[in-house]
Amino acid sequence: MANLEQTDKQYLWHPFTQMKDWLENNQLIIERGDGVYLYDTKGNKYIDGVSSLWVNVHGHRHKKLNRTIKKQFDKIAHTTLLGLGSVPSIELAKKLVEITPKELDKVFYSDSGSTAVEIALKIAFQYQQQIGQTKKKKFITLDNAYHGDTIGSVSVGGIDLFHKIYKPLLFKSIKVRPETKAIEQAMKKHHQEIAAIIMEPLIQGAAGMLLLPEGLLKAVRRLCDKYNILMIVDEVATGFGRTGKMFACEHEGVSPDIMCLAKGITGGYLPLAATLTTQEVYAAFLGGHEELKTFFHGHTYTGNPVACAAALANLEIFKQEKTLQKLQAKIKLLRQELEKFKPLKNVKEVRQLGFMVGIELQGYSFKERIGHQVILEARKRGAILRPLGDVIVLMPPLSISQAELKKLLKITLESISIVKR
Ligand SMILES: *Cc1c(COP(=O)(O)O)cnc(C)c1O
Repeated sequence: MANLEQTDKQYLWHPFTQMKDWLENNQLIIERGDGVYLYDTKGNKYIDGVSSLWVNVHGHRHKKLNRTIKKQFDKIAHTTLLGLGSVPSIELAKKLVEITPKELDKVFYSDSGSTAVEIALKIAFQYQQQIGQTKKKKFITLDNAYHGDTIGSVSVGGIDLFHKIYKPLLFKSIKVRPETKAIEQAMKKHHQEIAAIIMEPLIQGAAGMLLLPEGLLKAVRRLCDKYNILMIVDEVATGFGRTGKMFACEHEGVSPDIMCLAKGITGGYLPLAATLTTQEVYAAFLGGHEELKTFFHGHTYTGNPVACAAALANLEIFKQEKTLQKLQAKIKLLRQELEKFKPLKNVKEVRQLGFMVGIELQGYSFKERIGHQVILEARKRGAILRPLGDVIVLMPPLSISQAELKKLLKITLESISIVKR
């Protein structure tokens, strides 16, 4: 097994990872999972405290998900959506339209949150061109936004730490503070050149679980209507139950013009993403072949049948296991348990929306990597976490039991308490 670690270090380049650091330290290698637990190659067991990077919903190796995936493999693993249909992709599109806000009627598939965002941006841009609003070419984005790592999605991002170096490669967008007034001012001033605004609903995840002002989403909907601007909502992190409702938009009764989904869409089993839009936007792409109104975009594995089958099973499990109903009590328990963190001297703020939690630490320099130190303590105690800088993130699978949730919080509390102050 030590061999496997050496092989990793010889051949792999890990994402969002300083590899010098990776090479100098002992690393965990995960071999299997079961429910909310991960097991490393040495047989150690850990609670998956961040749902394997915010994707897992019903637990690892869920019987129904595994069965469904195997069954689909016995039919076909992949067939293209370029010029052909496939059974699970059709069934899933119908389901997604049924469960998302009412104005969303059409589904465009891709493979990651970043591509779902790229597609949203290109659709919004091309839509404006094709309905004759040819000056509308720019995007409004919010400070601290995160929409993915590809060049387009970074262009609408607002996290300097990740994005600064790429600046010369990016297209310009209009960045505003996430406040109704600031957004209204920007729209008032620039609306003639704005194709769309893109935002995460209610909470900015990667920024460190920053809660947006209540009512902002709804206000943006109203402003978009007023100023004739498309509203793109990035539900990649918040979708599929994370906030306590199926989609965060439901909290404020908002139906965007374009919605991006990924992460939890397959229950965290396979890469799949979807960009949904309205009949009105879709209709602007219809025309004679020679008119070139086609949406010229598509990834090779778009709408992969196995991934779509997993996504269908994911939605069925939501119903069968009453995932959202059961989640409400766990959200409450989480809120109660988080009270215990507030008196800690090194805790600056505790932020929670449903099953998304950020515990911001204070009193440390960037160099100290306090978030990293905390997660190493958590590992010793049996939990896998992944911080965002000095913010400890908790985002367990929705299927976690109350006892497991308590254990995760106990481990996290101990880990934050023990690191040096
Ligand atoms: C994770 C995330 C993305 C990017 O998704 P990938 O699958 O990593 O490309 C985009 N938007 C939000 C809000 C996210 O949390």
